[in-house]
Amino acid sequence: TRTLADVDPEIARTLREETQRQEEGLELIASENFVSPAVMEAVGSVLTNKYAEGYPGKRYYGGCEVVDVAETLAINRAKELFGADAANVQAHSGSQANMGAFMALMKPGDTMLSLDLNSGGHLTHGAAFNFSGKLYKVVHYGLTRDTETIDFAQVEALAKEHKPKVIVVGASAYPRTLDFAKFREIADAVGAAMLVDMAHIAGLVAAGVHPSPVPYAEIVTSTTHKTLRGPRGGLVLSREPFAKTINSQIFPGIQGGPLMHVIAGKAVAFKEALSPEFKAYQKQIVANAQALAEALKGAGLRLCSGGTDNHLMLVDLRPKKLTGKVAEEVLGKAGITVNKNMIPFDPEKPMVTSGVRVGTPAITTRGMREAEMAVVGRLIGEALDAAQDDAALARIKGKVKELSQGFPLYASRLKK
Ligand code: PLP
Repeated sequence: TRTLADVDPEIARTLREETQRQEEGLELIASENFVSPAVMEAVGSVLTNKYAEGYPGKRYYGGCEVVDVAETLAINRAKELFGADAANVQAHSGSQANMGAFMALMKPGDTMLSLDLNSGGHLTHGAAFNFSGKLYKVVHYGLTRDTETIDFAQVEALAKEHKPKVIVVGASAYPRTLDFAKFREIADAVGAAMLVDMAHIAGLVAAGVHPSPVPYAEIVTSTTHKTLRGPRGGLVLSREPFAKTINSQIFPGIQGGPLMHVIAGKAVAFKEALSPEFKAYQKQIVANAQALAEALKGAGLRLCSGGTDNHLMLVDLRPKKLTGKVAEEVLGKAGITVNKNMIPFDPEKPMVTSGVRVGTPAITTRGMREAEMAVVGRLIGEALDAAQDDAALARIKGKVKELSQGFPLYASRLKK
């Protein structure tokens, strides 16, 4: 059999180089993580060869008896992990999980109430240029100026005024605990359904480090690749009478054949997430986020809402007179990967921004703890202070590499 390097040296090279980039850099993108070799093995398996339209026991293709086992394991583990009545593990992505959920809860033209993109919401929560903003009437709530946390008075007022079909809860860049009970109260008061998109915090929820939305929401959507540390993909949890509708909205509603290799990877990740080690890992993510938050404040940066309760923080760069765009580039030169991000009431445009989003899931997977967070925070501060000085940034990159190499990731793979 010919190896990848024989068949396609160019792609083989990107795999090598990306492995090296991940090994030597500091990955602080809040939505990223490093899956276990077991998850990787499932995703890179013969299951990619199989068509399995339908659901376990009810397929439109023959030869599904083996993949039925894999999907059933994934479903049952997801239900156990989150205490959910039903789970759909076929959504190819978080966006498709949301699309399926919206279709189960709304007709085109119906109204949803959600957090706006500039306040930390996700594209699929009704951004004008996204399918969600095109298909539905969207009303957005935001944050208060003083606390930079969700403005519940506004949520309530908008809910009463617009009587949305669905209140969407969840965010891509919100550093504080979400109060699901409060949203439920408002939803009940206006007869709305509640959809929680827990993509970012799913791992924390699984480990009991963040309150669970499952007892509150009709439907909970998620990705599987962020704090949850599974393969890239989506997940929909629901309770009756939505479970059946959700399945038919995902397939045949918006997707064809499920990605059985990814579903197997999800099953592995859910099994890992049921372990005591995973709980300890999630606790450490939060402890590391707090330590990093302190270190960044110590370096002269401001954190939106004053800090973090979860795995991420939003850094206001204005004290350093830098934009998010510049900071992302500068930190990149130092081997530190972050993404520029709008901060609440940001005066800059989305491609510029005044902030960066920083998260600890990936570096915690490497085994870094509070002591390393102090170093990481200091290196970020040094890099931002040396924004114009490429030589200094190259020196910092050396320190980043040294730190990272103390916490090897897929190092054995690199040698092959
Ligand atoms: N929902 C939230 C809250 C997210 O942060 C994301 C990803 O960034 C998604 C949904 C979409 O997931 P995907 O990128 O898999 O479509």
